[in-house]
Amino acid sequence: MNCIQRAYRRYILHRHSIPHSEWAAVIEPMAVFSGLSAVEKAHLRELASVFLYHKTIDGAGISITPPMALTIAALACLPVLKLGIGLLTGWRYILIYPDAFYVKRAQTDAYGVVHPQARILSGEAWQNGPVILSWADIHYDVSNPHSGQNVVIHEIAHKLDMLNGRANGMPPLHTCMIITEWTAAFSQAYQALQTSLNHHHHTAINPYAASDPAECFAVCSEYFFCAPAILHQYFPELYRQLQLYYRQDPLLRQN
Ligand SMILES: [Zn+2]
Repeated sequence: MNCIQRAYRRYILHRHSIPHSEWAAVIEPMAVFSGLSAVEKAHLRELASVFLYHKTIDGAGISITPPMALTIAALACLPVLKLGIGLLTGWRYILIYPDAFYVKRAQTDAYGVVHPQARILSGEAWQNGPVILSWADIHYDVSNPHSGQNVVIHEIAHKLDMLNGRANGMPPLHTCMIITEWTAAFSQAYQALQTSLNHHHHTAINPYAASDPAECFAVCSEYFFCAPAILHQYFPELYRQLQLYYRQDPLLRQN
């Protein structure tokens, strides 16, 4: 960040910081933030303030109250707490539906045949476009903090993945990270999930992770922050890769 950007950031924080009492009322009851140090919480509040300044959160058939916006901002900024808010630039809009939403899209297969597809979604992230979320799902995730589900973190993981092109399960890795180690850890988990599904066995984590490498990264990111013990128990190497990527250790702080 250069000095002009730093001055602009200071201006935003001076004029538009989230009031401390409103911030504490939202994040203190949420288990996903427990274990963060006072310094980390203060930094997260700064990131969330900048996030809310730059993003437009609109409701479609639902009014977005300040605590709702704060909840979304705090969850969206948790993955970039040690990476910087700069990774969440290049898009502006967040659209909130009251509940899961219906989409109808045409999918083209490897042979060029177009298949119309209808799906019910709890969230969606567009390349260079908006993030779309279901408030009912956000509310469920906050109320069931150890389920390993968090639609906001899921869609933000997709946004991070899209920083180097179409989401494929590999965001731009830090220079200290080894691509083959990342690939091996994710491939091993992906194969294990596929094998469980093929044998109609219970999967260690949400089986949606086995639908696509991009979904594997997004679902594992949810577990990393919300149910780190489960992810670490079943896929310790994958946990270590996410620890290196996000530069956080939720398992350590939640113990
Ligand atoms: Zn997804």
